[in-house]
Amino acid sequence: MSDTEITTQSTTIKNSIFCSSCGASIALDAAFCPHCGSPNKANEKAVREAQPGDTVDGKIIKSRIAAGLLALFLGGIGVHKFYCGSVGLGIVYLIFFWTFIPAIIALIEGIIYLTQPNDETFTRRYCV
Ligand SMILES: [Zn+2]
Repeated sequence: MSDTEITTQSTTIKNSIFCSSCGASIALDAAFCPHCGSPNKANEKAVREAQPGDTVDGKIIKSRIAAGLLALFLGGIGVHKFYCGSVGLGIVYLIFFWTFIPAIIALIEGIIYLTQPNDETFTRRYCV
C-alpha cells in the first residue's frame, strides 16, 4: 500500500540503519530488529545518525574522524587512545613512542577508525 507514504523526507534518507542493541543492519521502518528483537528506536523519532556527544551503551560517542586524524598525526604518543578513553594504553604508547612501534600501530588504527561506517559503530568497537 502506498497510502502510508506520508513522510516525504524518507526518500532522501538511506532506508536502513544499525540496530542499537546488536548492530545489525535493519530496515529503517522496521518496528523491531529481526536479529535480536529489540525495538527500533530510530522508527520513533526523526531519523538521524548518532552524533558525537550522544551516548551508546553508556559510552559517549566520539568522532571517528577526529580519532583517526589524531591516530595518524599524533598516534605515536597515544593521543587517540586518550581521546577514546583508553588512558592506560595511551600511557603505554607514550612510554614506547621512541621505538616508533606505537606510531606504526597508530597508523593502522587511524586507517581502521576512518573506515568505520559511522561514529556510533566506531565508539562501540574502539572506545571505552
Ligand atoms: Zn538487533
